[in-house]
Amino acid sequence: MKYYSTRDRRKAIPAKEAIFRGPADDGGLYVPEYIPSFSFEDYLHASYSELACAVLETFFEDFDASYLKESAQAAYKEFDRDNAVGYTELGDVTVAELFHGPTAAFKDFALQMLPYLMKESAAGRKVRILTATSGDTGKAALAGFKDVENTDIFVFYPANGVSTMQKRQMTTQEGENVHVYGIDGNFDDAQRTVKEMFQDDALREEGRASGIEFSSANSINIGRLVPQIVYYIYSYLELVRRGTIEMGETVDICVPTGNFGNILASMYAKRMGLPFGQFICASNKNHVLTDFINTGVYDTHRDFYKTTSPSMDILVASNIERYLQLILKRDEKVKEKMDELKERGRFDIPVDLIRRSKLVGYWTTDAEGEARIKDVFERYGYLMDPHTAVAYDGVKKHASPRHVLLMATASPYKFPETVADALNLPKEEDTEALLREIEKVSSEPIPKALEEVFRKPERFKESIKIDEMPLVVKEGFDD
Ligand SMILES: *Cc1c(COP(=O)(O)O)cnc(C)c1O
Repeated sequence: MKYYSTRDRRKAIPAKEAIFRGPADDGGLYVPEYIPSFSFEDYLHASYSELACAVLETFFEDFDASYLKESAQAAYKEFDRDNAVGYTELGDVTVAELFHGPTAAFKDFALQMLPYLMKESAAGRKVRILTATSGDTGKAALAGFKDVENTDIFVFYPANGVSTMQKRQMTTQEGENVHVYGIDGNFDDAQRTVKEMFQDDALREEGRASGIEFSSANSINIGRLVPQIVYYIYSYLELVRRGTIEMGETVDICVPTGNFGNILASMYAKRMGLPFGQFICASNKNHVLTDFINTGVYDTHRDFYKTTSPSMDILVASNIERYLQLILKRDEKVKEKMDELKERGRFDIPVDLIRRSKLVGYWTTDAEGEARIKDVFERYGYLMDPHTAVAYDGVKKHASPRHVLLMATASPYKFPETVADALNLPKEEDTEALLREIEKVSSEPIPKALEEVFRKPERFKESIKIDEMPLVVKEGFDD
C-alpha cells in the first residue's frame, strides 16, 4: 500500500518514505491509499503486541514482518500494565487508560514504536526530529528517540504553557542526542514554525549538504497515527472479553482532543470494520473543533486560552486535514480548504458531511472539569486527570444511549495542582509534596516515571524566541 499527500494524490510513495519524511513537501500530510479491512474478531485472544504487529503489517507492507514483531514486543514491554492499556468501569462508560507507558502519556503508544519505524525507514540516513509540543508529545518523543543511532531530536514547548510536571519531565531528559527549548509563544506558534521549517527549502538544503534530513515525531507523521489505531481495536476486544458488550455490538467513542490525531485513529479503526457508533470530540475552552463540528465553519480568529488541560490548548488542529481527506475525498478540495485556512484563518465545509461521519463535539470549562474530577472521585473512588475529565464531561453532555469507550490520555499525577484543587486537598507549594497528598487518597501509586524527575538535574533551562527556532536547528550544519 502506498501513501500520498492529502493535497496531491499523484505523488504516491511507500510507507517507509512517508515515515521518513514526516509531512509531505507540498505542506500536506501523508494518508494511506485506502483503509484496509481487518478481521478483528480473529484477535480476541491476542496480546497487545501481537495485535500491534498485525495492524502495522496491514498498513506498512514494505516492512519486514519479523522486524515489526520484534519492534512491537520491545515498544510495549516498558508499559506498566500486562497489555499496555488499563481499564476501569464507571457505570456505562469504560475508561481505557492509555497513560501507563514510560512517560505517563498516551503518546507513548506511538512514540515508543516510531523510533523503530524511523530507524528502518531512514536506512542509514541521518535524521533530525523536529517536534512542537503542548507538553506530552515532547517528553514521549524524547524518551523514544533518546540515544537512537543516527538520530537527534529538537523539542519546542510553550515556556509558559505546560504544567510544572510536564516541564520538569522534559528539562530533566537524559541522552546525548536530545535538545529541549521553551519558546515565548503558545503551541500553535511552535507547530506553525516547525511546519515552516519543513517547507523552508533553503534550510533543508543546508541540512542535506551536511547529511541531515528533517523529520517529525508529531502526529503529522503517519508513523504516529497507525500505532494509535491498535488501542481502539484492543479496547473493543477487551469490552467483549469482559462481557461488557457482545462481539459486533456498537459502542461510542469519546476522546479528549487537541490536534485531532487520537480521535482520527478511532475513525480509521471504524473504517477497518470496528462497530463504532458516534465519535465524541471533547474540547476545552479553546473549542474551535466544537464550533466546527456544529457549524461546518473552522475559524481560528478567536482568543486563545490557557486552561488546566494544556495538551488541548490548540487552535490549529493538524489532523483536521486528514479528516477532510476522509470526508471530502478529493485532494484538490482538501488543498483548497487548507490554502484558505492559511490565507484567511478559516474555512468551511457542509455541516451535513460532518454529521454523516458521526462526529459530535462538546466543550468543557475548567470549573466543569474540576467538578467532574470531584464527582467521579466521590462516586467511584476513581481519579481522573483534567484532560480525561473534559472527555467525561463530553460523554455526560452527549447522554449516549450506547456503551462508551472513553480514552484517558494522561495520569492524574501529571496535573497535581488541578487534581488537588478539585478534591480540596491541602495546598502544597512543592510539587512533590502535592503528589504525596494525592497518593494518600488515590488507589494508584505515583508512576515511577514521574517520581524520578525530582531526583534528576534540570539540563535544559534555555528559553528562546519563536524566530530563533530555525537558528537552533542548524546545530552541526557545516558552513
Ligand atoms: C496530546 C494530548 C491530547 C490531544 O490528543 P490529539 O491526538 O492531539 O487530539 C489530549 N490529552 C493529552 C493528555 C495529551 O497529551
